[in-house]
Amino acid sequence: MTSTPSFQTGITHRPSAVVTATGADDVVAALTRADHDGLAVTVHATGHGLRRPCDGGLLIDTAALAEMTVDPRTRTVRAGVGATWGDVVAAAAPHGLRPPHGSAPSVGVAGYLFGGGLGLAVRADGWAADHVRAVEIARAGGTVTVTAESDPAYFARLRGTGPDDGDVVTAVVVGLLGSDGLVGGGLVRVLGAADAPGDPAALHAWADWTATLPDDVTSGVSVVPYPDLPVLPPHLRGRRVLRVGVVGTGGTGRTDALLAPLRAAVAWDDDTVAPLDPRASSRVYAEPEVPHAYLGDDVLVDGLDPDGLDRVVSRTGPMVVTGIRHLGGAAGRAAAVADTVRGRDAAYCVNVLAPFGDDVPAACAWSGVDHLLDGFSPRATAEVTHPSFRYGPPRPGTA
Ligand SMILES: Cc1cc2nc3c(=O)[nH]c(=O)nc-3n(C[C@H](O)[C@H](O)[C@H](O)COP(=O)(O)OP(=O)(O)OC[C@H]3O[C@@H](n4cnc5c(N)ncnc54)[C@H](O)[C@@H]3O)c2cc1C
Repeated sequence: MTSTPSFQTGITHRPSAVVTATGADDVVAALTRADHDGLAVTVHATGHGLRRPCDGGLLIDTAALAEMTVDPRTRTVRAGVGATWGDVVAAAAPHGLRPPHGSAPSVGVAGYLFGGGLGLAVRADGWAADHVRAVEIARAGGTVTVTAESDPAYFARLRGTGPDDGDVVTAVVVGLLGSDGLVGGGLVRVLGAADAPGDPAALHAWADWTATLPDDVTSGVSVVPYPDLPVLPPHLRGRRVLRVGVVGTGGTGRTDALLAPLRAAVAWDDDTVAPLDPRASSRVYAEPEVPHAYLGDDVLVDGLDPDGLDRVVSRTGPMVVTGIRHLGGAAGRAAAVADTVRGRDAAYCVNVLAPFGDDVPAACAWSGVDHLLDGFSPRATAEVTHPSFRYGPPRPGTA
């Protein structure tokens, strides 16, 4: 029995039955049957956020629930949960509109929203959760549409936490944003050999620059020590590479003026920041779209510890990838409709992930991840991590 291939290849589902749903009625029928038979249910969309396998239960594959309607008049999209954000971007773009999507087009509509949705322009747009208008749900016995008016408490849980046990989201209605004045791309600096400590100056320059920015510029940084493998482009092989992803919503002139100090502070090896068609927005972070086995975690912080930044460019295992997203701006303001987004008032989200497999046991990959995360001081609040950036099998010895 198979389901749609998963982006996360380090965890394998072994269900006793798979339902490939083609409509909400199929999901209701599957849930009703599972309820009757006492079967545990797992939902599979893209597998980007897969953390535990379905073992012996019923797997509901939502890939075929991908119908989509854009209404340019109300600037909304109704998207089935089999759609990816790349699909939504493609449907909205001809209308001059864009959704509040994240860095990777292959991420699924539902799982991203359950975590709140940290979008490419989160400092201008707020969290994706802020733009959700309705959530359509299937459960044993029927369907229900949840809105701020129909069930405010559940609508808040769906936007930041996820659906209650036994509920499967079948479609969402999300507000769209204008794409006029959208600018974006990446600034790339090769820091040197991947197996040698890199110069942290470019990373510090980015961190200092973020402190000066108005809400219409959102950025993040990634530092990747690439292994020396023939499958990689020659300029990346065995190199430690820092990339700043930038999205501005205020037009080219304004974004260029705001970027000028960062452009001047570092001798960048590449600079692709230019007017951005949302359909090309994967170029902002240029994340790999190849399924693989990975694990990782994140920490929400109020500021970036200099020692932590130094650690990010220090000697690490190959492919231990650090990403830091700048929050604040609209991301930090209370939502008009209550939600349960974690870390709304944090200044940055630091996430670290590492591949694992036959060559690198999961325990070893976790120690590489934790070495980098430990360099940053968590906030003095209960909300120190964001659920969307927790990946793969849990740390050994934890649930
Ligand atoms: C390369 C990459 C880039 C990313 N970039 C961002 C980013 O920029 N911003 C951000 O906020 N997050 C980002 N994420 C995190 C991503 O949002 C989460 O991993 C999210 O959980 C993925 O959702 P999914 O539906 O694609 O994946 P899945 O793994 O299929 O689903 C995630 C979880 O939700 C459950 N689920 C899925 N669909 C349903 C449904 N219809 N009903 C009920 N439960 C369901 C699944 O069972 C699973 O537990 C990124 C992840 C990756 C791997």
